[in-house]
Amino acid sequence: MTHLTELESRLVRYCSIDSQSSEDSTTTPSTATQWNLARLLMAELQEIGAADVRLTEYGAVIATIPATAPGPKIAFLAHMDTAPQFRATGVKPRVIRGWNGGAILFPDDPTLVLSPETSPYLGQKIGHDIVTASGLTLLGADDKAGLSIIMTAARHLLAHRDTPHPEIRIAFTPDEEVGRGVHKDLPADLAVDWAYTFDGGRVGEIEYETFSADQATVTFTGVSIHPGYAKGKMVNALTLASRFLANLPPQQTPEATEGRDGFLHPYEMTGTAAEATVKFILRHFERDGLAAQGALVQRLAEAVAATEPRARVAVAIRPQYRNMRYWLENDMAPVELAREACRSLGIEPVSSPVRGGTDGSRLTEMGVPCPNLFTGMQDIHGPLEWISVQDMGEAMRLMLAIARRALG
Ligand SMILES: [Zn+2]
Repeated sequence: MTHLTELESRLVRYCSIDSQSSEDSTTTPSTATQWNLARLLMAELQEIGAADVRLTEYGAVIATIPATAPGPKIAFLAHMDTAPQFRATGVKPRVIRGWNGGAILFPDDPTLVLSPETSPYLGQKIGHDIVTASGLTLLGADDKAGLSIIMTAARHLLAHRDTPHPEIRIAFTPDEEVGRGVHKDLPADLAVDWAYTFDGGRVGEIEYETFSADQATVTFTGVSIHPGYAKGKMVNALTLASRFLANLPPQQTPEATEGRDGFLHPYEMTGTAAEATVKFILRHFERDGLAAQGALVQRLAEAVAATEPRARVAVAIRPQYRNMRYWLENDMAPVELAREACRSLGIEPVSSPVRGGTDGSRLTEMGVPCPNLFTGMQDIHGPLEWISVQDMGEAMRLMLAIARRALG
């Protein structure tokens, strides 16, 4: 079996297995289906001869590819869950082998079209084997491409013990999509000098900058009274909350920002006339920008509450993750190694800031530097999600090149 055949068959197999995570769950992992994929991966790692294969109580699969030469210990990670934002149960992956450049249609939804017009990167992939879902679900290449790349490279390394490389650790984590992929015990369980996630997009992407992220909850408390006798007495918390929302700067929303801009995103409003709550995510690449966003939310909320002396407002801000650049810029060796490995394959690396977070953001913050590497995945979290098997092949070669070059 060639590497490409193996990558393709792993991707198709893993994507067919439901492992969607859930925002609402309080269990770890957030959904029981993730255990099924974890157990399968554990069995496959044992079968290809990996050492120390274990499934942690927090749902991560961890294994070792023993060193064939002394050197730093490095880990490669991918996440097992798929995004909760779109249907992800009953995924039917299909392969368009040697794609001819024409519009790609979907058997289960004739209204969908994937083409270079809507997805320009696809235009560079004529002749590639393209994998998509059937139209009803996302594909889940995010991040089952990462699983497939790491498994295929691991099998190769374990089958060719004459290739010199240091000890390599593998971790497949649950719940990345709901921001709970990095358990507090993971850094100690990995015990590596640094790590990489395979959770990026187009070929060449080596990312070491992510958003810094806080979550804010704003709660207005009004005065509740029978509406028939409310004149001069009722203070409606919903009215206050909507006034507050209307005062938010429209140029700082996700729909109005890109590149290096941050944003304030109110994503949930719940409540009654007595009490109303607005939840936000705050995102910025810089610490002071993030702090300014929190201060702005606070100021605008207090300004609305100040118009009504009987109203009360509470603003709570909770840190989520931080830009991994704060740590990596002090020691760029993990990034430089990946860039050199990438160049050695004839691919020019590109590093642009990620408008989101990765498991690597949390891991880096917890002391394990962890840039993010490309897999090829595109148009993720929706029905048009696709990936080129050949792009995955480049990612697998990158993992092998990093392993080889890590010796110095
Ligand atoms: Zn992902």
